[in-house]
Amino acid sequence: MITIKSPREIDLMREAGRIVAQAHRAVSDIIRPGVSTAAIDRSVEASIRASGASPSFKGYNGFPASACVSINEEVVHGIPSDSILLKSGDIVKVDIGARYKGYHGDSAWTYAVGKISPEAQRLLDVTERALLEGLAHARAGARLSDISHAVQKTAEAEGMHVVRDFVGHGIGRELHEAPQILNYGPAGKGPVLKAGMTLAVEPMVNLGTHEVKMRDNHWTAVTKDGSLSAHFEHTILITQDACELLTARPKEV
Ligand code: MG
Ligand code: MG
Repeated sequence: MITIKSPREIDLMREAGRIVAQAHRAVSDIIRPGVSTAAIDRSVEASIRASGASPSFKGYNGFPASACVSINEEVVHGIPSDSILLKSGDIVKVDIGARYKGYHGDSAWTYAVGKISPEAQRLLDVTERALLEGLAHARAGARLSDISHAVQKTAEAEGMHVVRDFVGHGIGRELHEAPQILNYGPAGKGPVLKAGMTLAVEPMVNLGTHEVKMRDNHWTAVTKDGSLSAHFEHTILITQDACELLTARPKEV
């Protein structure tokens, strides 16, 4: 069942989303060559806790950190470490969740470290655009897979491929609620969207094939062919005419 949030719940989710966006701002301030992925994680946790919230991911299914930090061919669920240092040319995905008064916000962003290749920059641009094209279809009366289809179309028009093994999700009192939101498939399928639904839409796009495999740590997924992967995610509220970005970054407000 897809929950419809009350006005009070929506206010709390707006605050959870704002706290996640603020943690991303803290991350963007410290990202540079030589910084460890554990330092990114500490900055995320400090920012979330300073806002009176708690990190949604810490301990979730046993995940050991507050943020997932995944570099280059790592797709999702990278585990922060003091021994993993960013270097110029890397792309780093930082996925952040915060729980505020019982409600979650969830947003991932891919950051460039120093100077990145034109190919990597194009991957970042296309993946962010795939998210925004998907969200352009997120409004009351649309079907869920209208979002999925727009994401896939945008990535594949540029010769890139969406990951199929991981999906977006409803969000609210639980970090992961119904429905699952695929990043591919035909339009016009699935539940009709209603005002008051809250969703986390999160395309992962690879420069190579869509295939991924699991690292030995049983957490981190990497592209099977070693190609670069990007990930962008927003938590949104479905409204009558459009959607509201609950995890909007300053330039998007
Ligand atoms: Mg996320
Ligand atoms: Mg998510």
